[in-house]
Amino acid sequence: MSTTTLDTPAGSGGTASAPDRQGTLSDPERLQRAMASFVLDFGATAALYMESCVHCGQCAEACHYYVQTGDPKYTPIWKIEPFKQAYKRQIGPFSAFYRLFHLKRPVTTDELGKWQELIYDSCTLCGRCTLVCPMGIDIPSLVAAARHGMEAAGLTPHDLWEPTDRAEREGSPLGATRQVLKERIAWLADENSVKIPLDLEQADILVTISSVEIMKYPQAIVALARIMNHVRASWTFRSDGYEATNFSMLSGDKKGQRNATMLLINAALAVQAKIVILPECGHAYQAFRWTGANIYGKPLPFRALHISEFLAEEIRANRLTLKSDPRSMTFHDPCQVARRGGVFEAPRVIFRALGAQLHEMSSTPAANWCCGGGGGVVTIHRADSLRHRVFHLKMQQVEDTGADILVSSCSNCRLTFDDGQAFFHWDKTAHSLLELVADNLAERH
Ligand code: SF4
Ligand code: SF4
Repeated sequence: MSTTTLDTPAGSGGTASAPDRQGTLSDPERLQRAMASFVLDFGATAALYMESCVHCGQCAEACHYYVQTGDPKYTPIWKIEPFKQAYKRQIGPFSAFYRLFHLKRPVTTDELGKWQELIYDSCTLCGRCTLVCPMGIDIPSLVAAARHGMEAAGLTPHDLWEPTDRAEREGSPLGATRQVLKERIAWLADENSVKIPLDLEQADILVTISSVEIMKYPQAIVALARIMNHVRASWTFRSDGYEATNFSMLSGDKKGQRNATMLLINAALAVQAKIVILPECGHAYQAFRWTGANIYGKPLPFRALHISEFLAEEIRANRLTLKSDPRSMTFHDPCQVARRGGVFEAPRVIFRALGAQLHEMSSTPAANWCCGGGGGVVTIHRADSLRHRVFHLKMQQVEDTGADILVSSCSNCRLTFDDGQAFFHWDKTAHSLLELVADNLAERH
């Protein structure tokens, strides 16, 4: 058990700065674009959500931003208020009535600008609010729809817009271009004496990666290769479809999101893959596993698995055998893989195969606190102070387990933990589940 003292950082953590703007659109043009996008996104489901809130306030206590600040503006359903207002005035069942009697004012560009902080800086799209809502309102999906409108209006936080723009220009949000990938793979294969297939014409499995891993945690590539070779898989990376991080989805850029997803789908089709493995990146899993088929327009002709699902399947099939690692560990379930993606059991299959002493967090895996860096928030620097406040909650939850080792299966969570560790001088480092498995491969005869 750590002896670290967990002091909460001072200050409200709010971001009072002026909203970021892209482009030279006039205010009326921005408003028109935002509203047109909202109207387009308001399908029957979103409309049902808008109509069914009973204002019980239960979602507030589920949101780490509200819990850590007590500020009512962080109540989840409040975060989409301008869009609710726009819905009621423009397309709701009583819209004509609202307009006739001026019961709902039109939303203004100024209001949208003020809402930028709530839509981006203070929502990690973690879905904890949805879990407790008695009406089952999926608030993150409404926040995502609101982000589409904000992006269309050129009202995205710059720190999120820049990597999105870069991804569209260079194929990677963090500079992990095709050439960089090729050089990294050649270097890592040589340095670690491991075979890393790249650009094979046919393979049963297409392995994808996140730019965070390529640039910050390259040992993940080595770990992947060791495991895939250990289970004797027919697999490859492809330089025409490798980047699974979908920053466009996070910023609200629908066209960019589609392009990023189609690169992976086309690469999988080119190699006739039966499986696409998604990396330790929660949003990559969410973007491909749960929206890939919608973007493709029909069922995907291959399976899409998070790497932890693949590892668990290989263990169950006795193709992946591990040495014992009985250390005391706890597992941080990444929101997009577990709560939003439904993958709870796979990592626990892996911990059992390792013989690890697993100390679960105080909540159920479904209600696990978010690390505070999801939804693109870790890239928005003006939100750092608020992010550290919510990270404190996560840090306390980890400490309460009494475990010696912290493990997760998301490189974005890992990045957030690394930042939080440095900020709080914490003695816990987040380890990768993938790398833990690669470090414990049993001899094969
Ligand atoms: S998705 Fe998470 S961060 Fe966003 S409002 Fe809901 S609980 Fe809060
Ligand atoms: S928990 Fe659901 S119904 Fe209650 S206020 Fe929040 S969104 Fe509305």
